[in-house]
Amino acid sequence: MSDSHPYDYEVLVIGSANADLTVRVDRRPGPGETVLGTDLVESAGGKGANQAAAAARLGARTALLARVGDDAFGQLLLEAQHAAGTELRHVLVEKGARTGTAMIVVGPDGDNTIVVSPGANARLSPADVRAAREAVAASAVVSLQLEIAPETVRTAVETATESGTRVVLNPSPAPESLDPGLLAAADPLVVNEHEAGLLSGLPDGTPTDQAHALRDRGARSVVITLGAEGALVLDTGAPVHVPGIKVEAVDTTGAGDAFTGALALRLSRGATLENAARFAVRVGAASVTRPGAQPSYPTAEELA
Ligand code: ADP
Repeated sequence: MSDSHPYDYEVLVIGSANADLTVRVDRRPGPGETVLGTDLVESAGGKGANQAAAAARLGARTALLARVGDDAFGQLLLEAQHAAGTELRHVLVEKGARTGTAMIVVGPDGDNTIVVSPGANARLSPADVRAAREAVAASAVVSLQLEIAPETVRTAVETATESGTRVVLNPSPAPESLDPGLLAAADPLVVNEHEAGLLSGLPDGTPTDQAHALRDRGARSVVITLGAEGALVLDTGAPVHVPGIKVEAVDTTGAGDAFTGALALRLSRGATLENAARFAVRVGAASVTRPGAQPSYPTAEELA
């Protein structure tokens, strides 16, 4: 730990880094169908890397524990994190491995469909987390998602819990059910509407009912992101709806990650969950006004 700060990192993200390969289409292909799209755009993505970039661009002292391959995509991701201001010493570059890749199709409404090839992300191991134990202990918040191996996420939760580091858990992509140990550590659990429906067991419930169900299942606190409608926050008191901000949505890729990175940043600085969510809703809204995931994330100045 440094002398000048109580924590080395305000936000330590342990998770995935992917190259996003994006094509826009006028209409989505059905099964067995081919449609023509726009020119391919390559950009830096992956839920872990996105959340780290979002926090770092907003000025948080941020580190990312992730694995990439020693290919051109890995280089692209390292450069993007460096540009965002993320500490790179915990990004492990694996010889001969393929960097994770996300194939993204953006429809006419700005909504996206994604297929992920995990590549090096799948080899981020419990041992990698244990080797970074000191960094976990020296972080205010650890932010986790589910694009890496489940045992690695579990080890990250255990390591954070042992050292009293707050865990922000974004269980995405959503599993059919969530390990009770992970749920119990989540403070908050951050889910979008789809994930809330799946994990609460109330696919047709209201966000308020879903949030209560998720807390009943063990989460310490819950945030449900509601797209253009903002977010619902369930902390110790009654649920609070944080209204969305009206913007022209160009590309919603990575909006949830912008939200979660911003939320983690504010929580690391002692904000209440509700106030952190108010800030995160603004950051999420700003991110949908520009194309791509990380390239769309605002700096603190841009947000102001
Ligand atoms: P995900 O990207 O995980 O599906 P959401 O779609 O709920 O998550 O978006 C996350 C956050 O991004 C929202 O809480 C909101 O702040 C912002 N956001 C997303 N879509 C829009 C939109 N169309 N208009 C304004 N804000 C948006």
